[in-house]
Amino acid sequence: MTVVRYAPSPTGRLHLGNARPALLNWLFALARSGTYVLRLDDTDTARSTEEFARGIEEDLSWFGITPTFTVRQSHRTALYDAARDRLIAAARLYPCYETESELDRKRMRARALGRPPIYDRAALNLTDGQKRQYAEEGRKPHWRFKLDGRPVQFADLIKGEQTVNTASMSDPVLVREDGSYLYTLPSVVDDIDLSITHVIRGEDHVSNTGTQIEIFEALGGKVPFFAHHNLLTGAEGEGLSKRIGSLSLAELRAQGYEALAVAIVAVLTGTSLPVEPYPDLRAIARKLDLSMISHGPARHDPAELDGLNARILHTMPFEVARPRLEPLGLASEPLWLALRENLSRFDDIVELSKLVFGPIVPVIAPEDREFVDLARDNLPPEPWDQGAWALWTDTLKEKSGRKGKALFMPLRLALTGRADGPELRSLLPLLGRKACLDRLS
Ligand code: GLU
Repeated sequence: MTVVRYAPSPTGRLHLGNARPALLNWLFALARSGTYVLRLDDTDTARSTEEFARGIEEDLSWFGITPTFTVRQSHRTALYDAARDRLIAAARLYPCYETESELDRKRMRARALGRPPIYDRAALNLTDGQKRQYAEEGRKPHWRFKLDGRPVQFADLIKGEQTVNTASMSDPVLVREDGSYLYTLPSVVDDIDLSITHVIRGEDHVSNTGTQIEIFEALGGKVPFFAHHNLLTGAEGEGLSKRIGSLSLAELRAQGYEALAVAIVAVLTGTSLPVEPYPDLRAIARKLDLSMISHGPARHDPAELDGLNARILHTMPFEVARPRLEPLGLASEPLWLALRENLSRFDDIVELSKLVFGPIVPVIAPEDREFVDLARDNLPPEPWDQGAWALWTDTLKEKSGRKGKALFMPLRLALTGRADGPELRSLLPLLGRKACLDRLS
């Protein structure tokens, strides 16, 4: 049984880069009929908000991601307290009393001596008397996890064999002075408690994984499989920060992008699968394997999103579009098939449909007047299908001697008022003879 989790912090709106682990986990679960847990990492109570939590759920449901269930770390403190106590009892968690400025000084001294600025574990040498005295002075400890100092190895499902040398790391602080938890411990406790089988997350967490595997082992939990994916970056390789509003999923949605286009770009950029239209996420889940994710950077190119969005619309079957056309009063298959190839955003259909239903202002240049009159007088009799256009223009070619652009552009301008747009062959039967007569006149 596969159990994955997506674990965002509700401290901002999700952006395109955050969508990558959200979707990779979803596709992984889909392919295995697994469980998808949404875990809101909201232990940072100062920065987490209810509104951001709702925003995350909205963004996921826009993609069609429906978590099996949701947990909030802020509701699970009792579990973390129990784990904390076990680690203290096992002497893997120890109290430290250094202030920020003391730690700063230690780091500066280490650097001056050319040593790595690793925490010196001075707190391990505190006597019980010293600790009692601190407590009497009202000083509260923060708590550090005592790393083993040996290389931690794991077989990453994307990056292959990894080694994290915890000897070159400071013992991480797991509990703050006020008793609140940093991300590291609650994440492991939840992964154990929820029986997470696969942790799929960004490669910025690889060194965390070294620490976390030690914590899994210290707590006697089963270590899950890990898969660290490359991060989506801007065109210049710069990180997509949560604070870049323009690439927030909410903003992309407001700009009218298809959820599927955004999902494909978020998940397939920087993989060996092409960024191209797929019918739905399930179709991607069937093809994508974690091993296809490249080890190099995944650069996002906004033009690619525009192109893909258009391609998805240009081939979108009527049945897929229908539920969205109905509220617009435009649910007609011939209309959809005639207009879809001119859409860059779905809602463009509203403007484009005016070419059919009007009002439009026909454009007829004085030098084309005579030709347009001829065209009007030679409109074939109805019923019209896609063949009507060829019938009509063959006649006009013969009678006027015009061909190519000189033939069709005056017709397009008179019939639609525009120099570009949908195929006239498809528009003609939608307009009907009466509207054509009016516009040509
Ligand atoms: N809240 C963490 C983050 O957003 C979760 C990382 C993880 O998946 O463990 O980076």
